Amino acid sequence: MPSRAADEHVQISVVVPVYNEQEIIGETYLRLSNVMESAHYTYELLFVNDGSRDRTGSHLHEICVNDQHVKVINFSRNFGHQIAITAGMEHAVGDAVVVIDGDLQDPPELIPVMVEKWQQGYQVVYAKRLQRQGETLFKKWTAAIFYRVLRRLTDVEIPVDTGDFRLIDRKVCDALTIMEEKHRFIRGMVSWSGFRQTAVEYVRDSRQAGETKYSMKKMLTLSLDAITSFSHVPIKLAGYLGVVSFFAGLVYLVMVIVLDHTLSSVDFLTFIAFILGGWILACMGVLGEYVGRIYDEVKDRPLYLVASREGFVTTEVNHD
Ligand code: UDP
Ligand code: MG
Repeated sequence: MPSRAADEHVQISVVVPVYNEQEIIGETYLRLSNVMESAHYTYELLFVNDGSRDRTGSHLHEICVNDQHVKVINFSRNFGHQIAITAGMEHAVGDAVVVIDGDLQDPPELIPVMVEKWQQGYQVVYAKRLQRQGETLFKKWTAAIFYRVLRRLTDVEIPVDTGDFRLIDRKVCDALTIMEEKHRFIRGMVSWSGFRQTAVEYVRDSRQAGETKYSMKKMLTLSLDAITSFSHVPIKLAGYLGVVSFFAGLVYLVMVIVLDHTLSSVDFLTFIAFILGGWILACMGVLGEYVGRIYDEVKDRPLYLVASREGFVTTEVNHD
């Protein structure tokens, strides 16, 4: 392995989370390294291999052996996209950190534009999608609805139509890594952190190879994490529903007494029992979401476990 100078100053760290991207990882590396070389930055490419089951790990090993800019963090299993990004940020040493998907949907060529904005004094430069190409209507619609619902529900101004493709300053990176929450919605956390933020616009390409690694389940979890991390509206909604159903019950009672209803009481009671039961269960579900998250925070497990690291100056990274 080529030796790495421990004291080399790194301007830009590029964090790339990857999960089963064997078809494209080589190409991603080439495009990234071309951009970084031609812009003459001092840089590191930090690939976080999020427990891939295909040959992504061995491809990354090859790449790392041949290029001293490359570092690889191999997770012991799949911990998820947001956790992989977090690990990358924790290991990054650059003055600025760029987070980019490993499937080339986010064009690496945009990085110099982001860096320029950063040099003008912005501490967060996020990439805003003008269009999404080659994605199913379902994905586009669910994403559009998700960002708009999120905006209505949350107190934090989270820009619509942005993903995790962004540049953050060292200060922001440090702020994010000391936030210890387990259910991480990084876009929201970046917005929450404040600092000077700006956008650059781009057209999101289609995936160059392979399929989306965001299953329906992962998308749902991400949306729930986003909403529960940044909004108390759902838990309040449970309360409102309770009040409404209570008064509805009272009105019903009064109406039956006043109008002397002819409808069979058994039918009606069954109907009411269903409605109330449904409401109570819905409210309990919302409570459950929050309580479950409190439980996760209290457990205080590490966010991820590293199986191995490659390309770092010291092989042991002290995490305490
Ligand atoms: N990814 C990851 N862990 C996961 C799922 C995805 O590291 O559990 C990576 C994936 O390899 C890609 C990025 O996160 O580099 C975005 O995922 P994907 O392209 O599948 O999401 P989409 O673009 O379809 O929303
Ligand atoms: Mg993608």
